Amino acid sequence: MAKNFSCAVSDRVTYDAVQLFGGYGYMRGYLVERLYRDNRILSIGGGTTEIMKEIIGKLM
Ligand SMILES: Cc1cc2nc3c(=O)[nH]c(=O)nc-3n(C[C@H](O)[C@H](O)[C@H](O)COP(=O)(O)OP(=O)(O)OC[C@H]3O[C@@H](n4cnc5c(N)ncnc54)[C@H](O)[C@@H]3O)c2cc1C
Repeated sequence: MAKNFSCAVSDRVTYDAVQLFGGYGYMRGYLVERLYRDNRILSIGGGTTEIMKEIIGKLM
């Protein structure tokens, strides 16, 4: 549950950061673009969000 929550927060924060930087947030060489790209693996590696939800659902 903590992983899924953290991933959701990270998704939102990096999405908003790119939006805030506008075109620069989308360009290679800018840290914000790297953070946005790196963030995507968080909800895939170590168990995807969908599978985590399934596990949480079974435990409930
Ligand atoms: C860079 C990287 C690092 C990784 N590090 C680790 C690690 O440290 N430890 C570790 O254990 N694993 C790690 N993995 C493996 C990672 O957990 C798997 O990629 C993950 O289990 C998804 O498997 P898959 O890529 O084969 O996708 P698939 O299983 O083919 O899934 C594709 C999509 O379908 C969804 N999906 C699949 N089955 C269901 C279902 N029953 N219900 C709903 N949706 C479903 C998935 O959530 C995903 O969105 C890493 C992967 C990468 C790419």
